[in-house]
Parts: sequence; structure tokens; C-alpha cells
Amino acid sequence: DRLIAAEKEQGEGRFDHAIRPKRLEEYIGQPRVREQLEIFISAARRREESLDHTLVFGPPGLGKTTLANIIAEEMQVGLKSTSGPVLERAGDLAAMLTNLEPGDVLFIDEIHRLSPVVEEILYPAMEDFQLDIMIGEGPAARSIKLDLPRFTLVGATTRAGLLTSPLRDRFGIVQRLEFYNLEELTEIVRRSARLLEVEASEEGAIEVARRSRGTPRIANRLLRRVRDFAQVKGTGAIDAAIADAALNMLNVDHHGLDHMDRRLLLAMIEKFDGGPVGVDSLSAAIGEERDTIEDVIEPYLIQQGLMMRTARGRVVTRQAWQHFQLAPHEKALD
Ligand code: ADP
Repeated sequence: DRLIAAEKEQGEGRFDHAIRPKRLEEYIGQPRVREQLEIFISAARRREESLDHTLVFGPPGLGKTTLANIIAEEMQVGLKSTSGPVLERAGDLAAMLTNLEPGDVLFIDEIHRLSPVVEEILYPAMEDFQLDIMIGEGPAARSIKLDLPRFTLVGATTRAGLLTSPLRDRFGIVQRLEFYNLEELTEIVRRSARLLEVEASEEGAIEVARRSRGTPRIANRLLRRVRDFAQVKGTGAIDAAIADAALNMLNVDHHGLDHMDRRLLLAMIEKFDGGPVGVDSLSAAIGEERDTIEDVIEPYLIQQGLMMRTARGRVVTRQAWQHFQLAPHEKALD
């Protein structure tokens, strides 16, 4: 099983490499983010400076890592990547920082998961490009200061609110990614299909896009699965009927909701009368981590108007009852 998983990952890695946008002009959607970054990047380049530290936040799969890569490419500098949970000790971050070339982008994914001791190292590095670290222990311990090259920290997180405020305050640029609309996702599907040399009709691309949960990573994943289906059950070309059949088989409903989305909504309806219900009770009811509910599942359901967050807890809307062909509870909200 593990071998298969590794192989699959490799396959997806190769696929991902081929279709990941490399330049800002290839980055589809997010017009506000693109427009602002274009200005900040060209200004920094004109001044021959590195770009200010940049925080990108938004649900998984919306293009945070892609944006970090694009920033490095557009600034014509190198990129070194790591993630919050990987940097366990102060020394781990110190090693990354001392390895940077002048101007490099240091990308830290899941930056909200840095441990406090590691975060402490990051503050002077971001602010003064200085590494301030204790070496040794006990009476022999001493602190050393090192000058670091100028670099750009690009941090990614699912919710900006998860960051401590001293960390958040050290980012000069903060960008929030939004779910993609149908038009943008269709363009992403068509672009990926072209790069993968898969034939897809306009309607086929739209069908994949419609059911992608507003998320490019999901659009690309579904495209790959629909392509398999088209090869085995059809002529290899993707049209609306093939896409629909494949997506039904994958348990993605017509609204693009997947199994987890439906489980959450149904639990709220069936076990809690539509809410209000606290996230911890929901987490216990469906056996999903609270973080997964807050970061992955509910942002899209809220954006789609299927549920709401109120002061008293989560509530499903009338539309959610209707989604399951159920008569809404009389207290259900619009
Ligand atoms: P995140 O880091 O936010 O989880 P990624 O940057 O890894 O998301 O994006 C997931 C995939 O979606 C990437 O492989 C990329 O191919 C695709 N993607 C993301 N954003 C865009 C975009 N704006 N235009 C085209 N493709 C995108």
C-alpha cells in the first residue's frame, strides 16, 4: 500500500510540475492579488531590493505555494521551502536561514504551526536580517549574532487569525486568496487539459470546474480522474456526459460537494436540528479534527451559503435542507 501511495504521489508530482503556473500572467483568477503583486514586484525590482515579507492566506489548494514560486520566478531569485511543523528546533530554522543566498525567497508553509522558540528566531531575522541564537547549554552557553543576507519570507496559512500578532505584524504584504468562480476554474481546467494533451470539450471542462469546490487543486485532481474514466469507458475525450458519469462515480455531487461536506451538513441537520451547534460537538459527531472542519470543510460551505457561523454556533441554512430534499426546519435561516 505504501509503495502504491508513493508511486501515486510521484505521478501526481510530475503532473503537478507540468501544470503549475510559473509566471504571474499564467496565474488565473485572484485579480486583486495579481494586480497588487505586479505593482509590488515591479517596484522592488526597479529599486533592486528584495520584495517585502509576504503572508498569503486561504483554504488549502487555492494557490499559496504556487504564488510563492511565482514570486521567486518574477523576482529572479532562488526559492527554499519548508513548513511550520518541520522546523522543530531553533537550529532547524537557523540552518535554513544561513543557507539563503541574497534575495532568496524563503517559503514557510503552515507558518501558524511554528513553535514559539522557532518563531522567536524569526522575528530578528525578518526585521533586521540578523540571526540571534544561543549555542551550547548551561554555563558554556552563549548567544551569537550573525548577519543574514536580505531575503523575502513568504508565509502561507489557512487563516490569518491563527498567527500570533507579533508575527503577523512583521509582514509588509498580506494577501488573502478567495475561492475561484466557475469561469476561472473552467479556464484552469482547460489550461491543464491542454498541457496534459487531453481533449476536453467546453461543456466537459465546465462540468469538471463546476464540481471542483472553488479549488484549483481539486479541479486538477478531478480532471485527472475524469481523464482515466474517459480512457477506459469512452474514447479518451472528455465531454459533459463522461465528466458527469465519472464525477458521480467519485461521489462528487452536482453542487460539487464531496462526501465530507455532505456528512457535515447531514450531521448538523439530523443530529442537531440544523444548529446552532459548536464546532467541537460537530467534530465529535463526524469524527473529524476541529481544524479540518474549520480550515477545509466549512469555508466552502459558508461561501456557498449552505451554512453560517453565528455567535451561538454553526447553523445550516434553508438552502442546505433543500440540497438534501428535506423540508427546512421552521427556524432555518436563509
Ligand atoms: P496551496 O499551497 O494553497 O495549498 P497550491 O499552490 O499547491 O495550493 O495549488 C494547488 C494546485 O492548483 C497547483 O498545483 C496549481 O497547479 C493549481 N493552481 C493553484 N492556483 C492556480 C491558479 N491561480 N491558476 C492556475 N492553477 C492554479
